[in-house]
Amino acid sequence: MTSTLVLGLVLGAGFTLLFFVAAQRGRRVAAVAAPRVPEGVSQVLDAIESAGVVVDPSGNVVKASSAAFTLGLVRDGHVTHEELDALANVVRDTGLPTTREFALRPDQFGELDRQVLARGARLGTRYVLILVEDQTERLRLDEVRRDFIANISHELKTPIGAISLLADALDPAADDPERVRSFATRLEVEAERLTKITADIINLSRLQSAEAIGKPALVDMADVVKAAVEQNKVIAESHGVEVISRTVSDAVVIGDKALLVVAVHNLVNNAIAYSPDATRVGVGLAVRDGIVEVSVTDQGPGIAEEERERVFERFFRVDQARSRTTGGSGLGLSIVKHTAQNHGGEARVWSRVGQGSTFTIRLPEASADARAQIETTSLEEK
Ligand code: ADP
Repeated sequence: MTSTLVLGLVLGAGFTLLFFVAAQRGRRVAAVAAPRVPEGVSQVLDAIESAGVVVDPSGNVVKASSAAFTLGLVRDGHVTHEELDALANVVRDTGLPTTREFALRPDQFGELDRQVLARGARLGTRYVLILVEDQTERLRLDEVRRDFIANISHELKTPIGAISLLADALDPAADDPERVRSFATRLEVEAERLTKITADIINLSRLQSAEAIGKPALVDMADVVKAAVEQNKVIAESHGVEVISRTVSDAVVIGDKALLVVAVHNLVNNAIAYSPDATRVGVGLAVRDGIVEVSVTDQGPGIAEEERERVFERFFRVDQARSRTTGGSGLGLSIVKHTAQNHGGEARVWSRVGQGSTFTIRLPEASADARAQIETTSLEEK
């Protein structure tokens, strides 16, 4: 009995010892596989949105945030870019937080260089923490904004300069009614151009804001086409251009009618402006496979292939001189493109030099469900 008890105690103690040794060894293995990064760093890296890596003195990555993997900063336990290694070395040598900006080469991430800002700082005595921010999109937007402002200033300068010159010329010409009349007409043209540019800039800024389409409503595109054609009646007559429109019923989309009228107006207006006198412009409306299409066709000069996509850019003009005489702001097609995109659609152009062009706005047709939903909501609001 006693011997059984002793045996039990010995065995029990033996197993406890074995268990303890195994646990100790296991802990050592875990420590090698995942070296101890100062407390809290893992949680911080898990929480931050920017890409972060922690490297040890041999350049091994001991911890990385998921954004660091998304950005392709870590491969096989090391950072993928020499610049990051170099940054870690500087931090290690100087002990000071350091910032570097550089481009991540495209071979690592698809097509584009990514402009990044990397900050390095010591983490405890052994490690260096590197945070990497992808600045590509912000820099691109800054550039677009700068270009836009430079272009606006340039576009406004011309009519404003002309108006002030004409105003100066009026006074000395006061006794010559003929000249006064001529200056007055030119003043009117320049003032109109100024009004158009300002309206286009406001429209475009509105389209680029997040809530461009205020309260979505059901819009019958036949009404939109009719309004846009009507607005261009006088200018068409003055050019001797005949505008022929064909609409269908029940071409309904969800969106903002005023914006859609401006977009179709711009297409019809361009078609007339870039057409030789006494030609025809066709405006069509069709619904095909759930897509509502408005197309505007002219018999104008057409647009060369290399310029076809660029015409939708802000302030792009194929022929600066000719566009100025048409009184355009260079923003018309950009407004068309943004309006189509804000309505979940697209703007396209087909063109052949010497034959003419067809611009098309394609929008998703309002589904039966959406129609019922919007109708019910607007009835409830009444
Ligand atoms: P603009 O105010 O100069 O007309 P848009 O953005 O409306 O600006 O058009 C950009 C450019 O595209 C125009 O300057 C013109 O060169 C070209 N373009 C637009 N519509 C037509 C068309 N129907 N036929 C030929 N060229 C066109």
